[in-house]
Amino acid sequence: MRNYKELKEEVWDKGICSGCSICTIVCPMKTIFFDHGSPTTYNYCKSEKDNVPCGGCYSCCPRIETFLEKHGIGSFIGAFAAKASMDISKKQSGGAVTAILFNALKRNLIDSVVMVGQDHTTMKTYSIAVKDADQLLCYAGSKYIWYTPSLTALRDIIEEGTSKRIAIVGTPCVCQAVRKMLKSDNPVLNKFKESVLLLIGVFCTEIFDYDRSMRYLSENDIIPSEIKRVDIKKDLIIEKYDGSIIELPITKDLKKTGCEVCMDFSAVDADISAGSIGSEEGYTTILTRTPMGEFFLNSAKENGCIEADALVSTDIIEKFASQKYKRNYKRYKEIIGDGT
Ligand SMILES: Cc1cc2nc3c(=O)[nH]c(=O)nc-3n(C[C@H](O)[C@H](O)[C@H](O)COP(=O)(O)OP(=O)(O)OC[C@H]3O[C@@H](n4cnc5c(N)ncnc54)[C@H](O)[C@@H]3O)c2cc1C
Repeated sequence: MRNYKELKEEVWDKGICSGCSICTIVCPMKTIFFDHGSPTTYNYCKSEKDNVPCGGCYSCCPRIETFLEKHGIGSFIGAFAAKASMDISKKQSGGAVTAILFNALKRNLIDSVVMVGQDHTTMKTYSIAVKDADQLLCYAGSKYIWYTPSLTALRDIIEEGTSKRIAIVGTPCVCQAVRKMLKSDNPVLNKFKESVLLLIGVFCTEIFDYDRSMRYLSENDIIPSEIKRVDIKKDLIIEKYDGSIIELPITKDLKKTGCEVCMDFSAVDADISAGSIGSEEGYTTILTRTPMGEFFLNSAKENGCIEADALVSTDIIEKFASQKYKRNYKRYKEIIGDGT
C-alpha cells in the first residue's frame, strides 16, 4: 500500500501539490501538515514504520492517477443564471452559493458547512466549519489568495462528532480530492465518507500565493486592511473602503505553485459548480451535476432563497475550461514528462 513517501516523491517534490490538504485531514496519525504553504510530515507514518495498512493520503490526492481526466465543462444536469433573493453584502457574484447553503442550514438539511474565511487585516485565509445560517453570510465572497489549506476544518468537525451531514465549498482540486475520498474503498477513509453530503465547487482559473501577493500589494502601496473587495477580470480589481478602485495586472508569479498544472476549471467533481462567467453581472452561473446538487438548488428555490433561470448557452464556460486545460496540460507535461 502506498503511503506518504510515494506521495512526496510523485507530488510534493515535483511542486504539483494543489494545497487541498486532504492528505492532512485523513492521516490517522496527524503526521502531515503544511509548513509555509508546502506539505510536509513529522515523519511518523504507521504504514512506513510499523507496516500498518493505511495509504489514506495517497488514495485521495487529486494529483494522483485520476488527475488527467478532470477537465472540460464535465457532465451536468442543469445550467442556470442564479442570484440570491436575500441581501448578501459580501457576495462575489450573485450570492447563489451562500443562498443555497443558507437555505440548507435553515431547513436543517445539513449540519454544517466547511468553507473558507479570511482575516480582514492580513488577508490570511482559514478553513472554518459553520453551523449557523446567519453566520454563514459573513463568509460569502471569493478568497483568491491561498494561505492555509481549505479542508482542515473538516477533520475538526468530524472529530467533534456533532455533524453527520456536511457540505463543503471548495476549488476544483478540493472537489476532486473529496470525490476521490467518497469513492475510495480504503477503510481508513470511512469516517469522512459517511459525513459528507454536498460538494459545491467554484470555477477556478488559479489561486494566488499569499507571500507573493502581499509583496505585490505592498509594491503598489496597498495595505490589506484597506481592501473591501477583490475581483478578477482581465486584471486584479481592488476596491478599497475609501471607494477607490485600483486595477493591477495579474502577473504570472502570483499563481500558487501547483496551480499551474491543474486542468480543471469548472469543478467537474462537484454536485454543484458555481462561477461568474456565463451569466451577467450580479448573477452566479450554476451547474447542477448530480441529483443531490439539484435537490439543494431546488430546495433553495422553493423556499424563496434563490432565483434561477436556465442559461441560454454554456459555450463560454467550455471555452474557459478548454483554455485552462490546454495551457496547464502543456505545463504538466513539461514538469512530469512522459516520454512523448
Ligand atoms: C480562487 C478562486 C478563483 C476563481 N476563479 C474564477 C474564474 O476564473 N472564473 C469564474 O467564473 N469564477 C471564478 N471563481 C468563482 C467566483 O469567484 C465565485 O466564487 C462564484 O461565482 C460564486 O459566486 P457567489 O456570489 O454565488 O458566491 P458567494 O455567495 O459569494 O460564496 C462564495 C463561497 O465560496 C467560498 N470560498 C471563497 N473563497 C474560497 C476559496 N479560496 N476556497 C474555497 N472556498 C472559497 C466562500 O466560503 C463562500 O462559501 C473563483 C473563485 C475562487 C475562490
